[in-house]
Amino acid sequence: MKTEIPYDRFAHVPERIFGLVDLAYNLWWSWHSSATVLFKLLNRAEWKMSRHNPVRMLLDTPPRYFERAAANPEFLRRYDVIMYRFRQDMEPKTSWFAQQYPGQRPLTIAYFSSEFGLHHSLPFYAGGLGVLAGDHVKAASDLGVPMVAVGFMYAEGYLHQHMEANGWQKNVAEVLDRDAAPVLRVTGDDGRQLVVQVPLIEPPIYVAVWKVQVGTVPLFLLDTHIDENLPENRSISHRLYLKELEYRIRQEVVLGIGGRKVLHTLGIDYAAMHLNEGHSAFALLERLRERLVAGMPFEEAREQVRGTSVFTTHTPVAAAHDVFPGDLIAKYFRSYCPSLGLSWDEFMALGEDPHNPGAGFNMTAFALRMSRFHNGVSKRHGEIAREMWQPLWPDLPPGEVPIDAITNGVHMPTWLNHRIETLLDRYMDAVYPNWREDYDNPVIWEVVDEVPDDELWREHQWLKMKLFSRIRERKRIKWAGHRDEPANLAAEGLMLDTSALTIGFARRFAGYKRADLIFEDIDRLDRIVNNRWRPVQFIFAGKAHPADDQGKRILQRIYQYSQDPRFGGRIAFVEDYDEQVAHYLVHGVDVWMNTPVPLMEASGTSGMKAGMNGVLNLSILDGWWVEGYNGRNGWGFEGHAEDNRADANTLYDLIENEIAPLYYSRTMNNVPHKWVRLMKESIKSIAPQYCALRMLKEYVTRYYPSVCTYAVEPGKRTAGLDESCPPPGFDQFRQVQR
Ligand SMILES: *Cc1c(COP(=O)(O)O)cnc(C)c1O
Repeated sequence: MKTEIPYDRFAHVPERIFGLVDLAYNLWWSWHSSATVLFKLLNRAEWKMSRHNPVRMLLDTPPRYFERAAANPEFLRRYDVIMYRFRQDMEPKTSWFAQQYPGQRPLTIAYFSSEFGLHHSLPFYAGGLGVLAGDHVKAASDLGVPMVAVGFMYAEGYLHQHMEANGWQKNVAEVLDRDAAPVLRVTGDDGRQLVVQVPLIEPPIYVAVWKVQVGTVPLFLLDTHIDENLPENRSISHRLYLKELEYRIRQEVVLGIGGRKVLHTLGIDYAAMHLNEGHSAFALLERLRERLVAGMPFEEAREQVRGTSVFTTHTPVAAAHDVFPGDLIAKYFRSYCPSLGLSWDEFMALGEDPHNPGAGFNMTAFALRMSRFHNGVSKRHGEIAREMWQPLWPDLPPGEVPIDAITNGVHMPTWLNHRIETLLDRYMDAVYPNWREDYDNPVIWEVVDEVPDDELWREHQWLKMKLFSRIRERKRIKWAGHRDEPANLAAEGLMLDTSALTIGFARRFAGYKRADLIFEDIDRLDRIVNNRWRPVQFIFAGKAHPADDQGKRILQRIYQYSQDPRFGGRIAFVEDYDEQVAHYLVHGVDVWMNTPVPLMEASGTSGMKAGMNGVLNLSILDGWWVEGYNGRNGWGFEGHAEDNRADANTLYDLIENEIAPLYYSRTMNNVPHKWVRLMKESIKSIAPQYCALRMLKEYVTRYYPSVCTYAVEPGKRTAGLDESCPPPGFDQFRQVQR
């Protein structure tokens, strides 16, 4: 088995700078701005045309550009430094992980997720869960944590959002050109792409294997769009989260059972498994089956699988957990079940939801039963999950249910804007030059106070201008291509005012996110937006699930308000929210708003991205913000599940009485010093705590070595498995770290 870069297609790249090809095929470039600058220097126009896809760019750039670069001393100097750093990072001998666990045989974790949001050139994600998985893998590479990842090749049908003039969302599918993207075919000994059969599933399903290299972590992607499959099975990996249960179960069979089989076929040696959400939980079933087939008694097999598995649950909404009815399971697992040596009832009992016995096979309940460590993604979500799943531990009170919490974090090198980073660097460097390797240490961040207010404010203003100019640029291109209605121009941000207080809201248009909360009282909103001295503007972005008409109607309502002359172009909707648009928004607005129905948001991560860039959070105290808010780094308030009007009034009061006055109180040099004080507090409190580095170190210090050790020496375990799970709220990690 091999994965080789098709070097022969890059014959036009000169020897001296041929390393660019290796760089292009490793997503490492995506979180090192010095590497992207190199691509930009080579051919700025093509970099933009390719939507920042270096593989496409290198293929499409004419030879004379390369010749020019290879003769340019400045380019070569940068090239040499970046390539040196890149090669160094690929040999993580001095990584944090290597230092923490010296001399030990590194044991690999297999990380399974149904989506991975790594970069906008690779559309393998729908939203927050995917971006989180991408950030997890990038942080694993940065820390030198041995990991392989498994996901889907969603190549056909990434859905772009196109807004019709009446505000209805249209979905436009874009097919990924796999031969011009940073993905590689995994080939077998015969030189053809590796194809693996998903074991024992009837009718048979086959998957072809692709690889994306993310720093030191390989991500293997499963692809069902191949001739070997029946036509109805080819589309399994076309799109994310197909609504029909029948497709859902096939997707999850492919991800879990197929994914396990692929790793096995590739001969990848890994000790333990981490499941990011329940979609991949069938992988645990496959591990169980392999042991039973080998003759291990059931109890022992179950303990072994549990002892080596970590499971993270991501949603407090009961209806959002996958449950497959018995007849559907029976249809696909006809041949599979007998090989487990279990009766049908025993098998179904593995996935029984104690709240709802007989309802079917609940993937979350199954994953909880079959994993040793399980966690929610914020402290609040941990509490909710313990209550929700307490019936699985009938002897324990909810407070002692062994579901832990590791709060999400975002990958700082990806999400901290490089201008802010450069500014911080000027002050950090004098005090602590290695801050980039150690940025989860809050002490370092005290230096932020030394940055002069006007410098930080100037950078923020620059990023705001950049956001507005990006918005206009996107509109201009569509308009010039005769692909836009005049009514959409006003609605989509052409009239935004760079000097006005700007509040951003971008996320999936699911009902519980209450995107339309500020439209509860239109007259009051009108007064706030059109305040003569203190105008306020709102920028919305986000997609509704293609099958979610309620979400589409909320979106339409907002879109129609943004077309309404009454708001003078100060309410805008930005089309086609994705990872790239998210970057501009979380860097460029003044305030990041989040108003979900309380207890529905497990964590939320976009507010972390905003907060570390000095964009202030204004949010219901839910998810991560319950622990992130400290009274000085933004605004928070308790929401009401049943009373939208009350929550809207709180928002209006805060904006009118606190936020706008603070924003518009300026000194002679036009700097809002009190506002900048909050920005600094936001950066200081959020960057070190809500970054993926902190998150990953928690997974490592609390879970990964334990499950890996168990894999090597199962007999060493003495006490009950769950006893080694830290009690809820116990912040073991902080003590380990200091
Ligand atoms: C960060 C991110 C999300 C997650 O945002 P939430 O705050 O969790 O809703 C969704 N989509 C994209 C593109 C993101 O970058």
